[in-house]
Amino acid sequence: MWFRRDLRLDDNPALLAAADEGAVVPVFVVDPAFDEAGPVRSAYLHRALTALDESIRERSGTGLVIRHGDPTDEIPALAEETGATTVCVSRDATPYGRRRDAAVIDALAGSGRRLRGVGSPYAVDPGTVRRGDGGPYSVFTPFARSWRATGWDPPHPPPGGDVAWHGAGTPGIESDDLGPAPEPGCELPPVGERSARRRWGAFVADGGADDGSIRSALAAYDDLRDVPARRGTSRLSADLKWGTIHPRTLLADIGSGDAAAWGDGAATFSDELAWRDFYADVLLRRPDSAWRNLNPKLDGIELDTGAEAEERFGRWCRGETGFGIVDAGMRQLSSIGWMHNRVRMITASFLVKDLHLPWQWGARWFMRHLVDGDLASNNHGWQWAAGTGTDAAPYFRVFNPTRQQERFDPDGAYVARWAPEPVEPMLDHAVERAEALRRLAAATP
Ligand code: FAD
Repeated sequence: MWFRRDLRLDDNPALLAAADEGAVVPVFVVDPAFDEAGPVRSAYLHRALTALDESIRERSGTGLVIRHGDPTDEIPALAEETGATTVCVSRDATPYGRRRDAAVIDALAGSGRRLRGVGSPYAVDPGTVRRGDGGPYSVFTPFARSWRATGWDPPHPPPGGDVAWHGAGTPGIESDDLGPAPEPGCELPPVGERSARRRWGAFVADGGADDGSIRSALAAYDDLRDVPARRGTSRLSADLKWGTIHPRTLLADIGSGDAAAWGDGAATFSDELAWRDFYADVLLRRPDSAWRNLNPKLDGIELDTGAEAEERFGRWCRGETGFGIVDAGMRQLSSIGWMHNRVRMITASFLVKDLHLPWQWGARWFMRHLVDGDLASNNHGWQWAAGTGTDAAPYFRVFNPTRQQERFDPDGAYVARWAPEPVEPMLDHAVERAEALRRLAAATP
């Protein structure tokens, strides 16, 4: 069982498939390509692997096998050493993951072995939700309708007591050290399968809404999810990213719960999980859209680059724009590796429409600093803000950061928490809005 973005034992069909094949050698390959992840996600991953190792040890007395190196070398070598004929994985739909897996399949085939993909980190595997004529959806709403109609399995049970684990510590099975825990440079929440369950449990428990009511946070989701000063969202994004919990588990609980008590909150929450699946599907279909405009209509728009643009970008990164909600968001990001969704939209709009910088600059910064940094959700979130993505917000709709702050942080609690000291605004929003619209008109005659 080669773990990648599915760092859990429960509800893990690839692991069950491996157990069905025979004795299970659980392995994680620390790929040099992960260096790009930056300190926050590297530290998070280290903790998630430590938690997984502990869970495997509790069950089997043996641990997670760690290999450092290129999976194309490491996986076939381990299969050879252990006599494994099949390597089970949960499928990866990212451009890098697909290239890597294709190379591993070839390398395994040389010795008659196979890579067996079972499931994916999504409720519905990317590439599955298709229109009647077999084509992919390019707009979210019909995708979500068809996504629900396609449906998902109920959660799978954890592996039983009869599984023969051949983990680290088994004679003849070599494991590298995981290595020292990287310093994240920011606060991280507790990591691992149990912590994810606890976070989810707290989100659906009565009285959990951050408004003093007896409702659960899930029941209050519609009311509180856009208020960044409140704990109105699940904070499960990093768990979902690394697979310490699977969306299927969440959707099953929602489906079996008291729909009347959860009201619209549950439906809106499952829509957010549909967005996650949608962006993974778009990236699978258009791997080039990771870093290039999905919709080429704005390919020619005038963007600022060069030293002066970089200086303004630096102010955005540091949270020194002088716009309270933008600065608060950027500082929340550097302090806890996470930013509220509403504020991600506002800070992204500011970079694109007020600073006239390439969305890719902001996307790269987010990917480096977000603990939940995920190529599909992040880069398509950015393309949404830039008006170059799927059913993108039209480019001419420019977020006014002051208005957004008045609306979503009316008592100023969020800004007071993250960016309390006033900074002189670096620009005049009305002027930059007009400039953004001028550039739009010039690019789309
Ligand atoms: P909740 O509101 O509790 O939502 C539950 C789950 O649904 C999330 O954990 C996430 O997995 C999924 N989800 C929610 N909103 C979205 C969305 N708009 N698109 C895709 N999935 C969604 N999300 C990431 O997971 N990784 C990223 O790198 C990322 N980058 C983003 C960049 C920009 C510019 C924008 C606008 C959004 C980005 N998002 C990203 C989506 C969203 O902001 C986060 O998923 C959300 O803030 C995570 O907090 P939560 O778990 O409390 O969310």
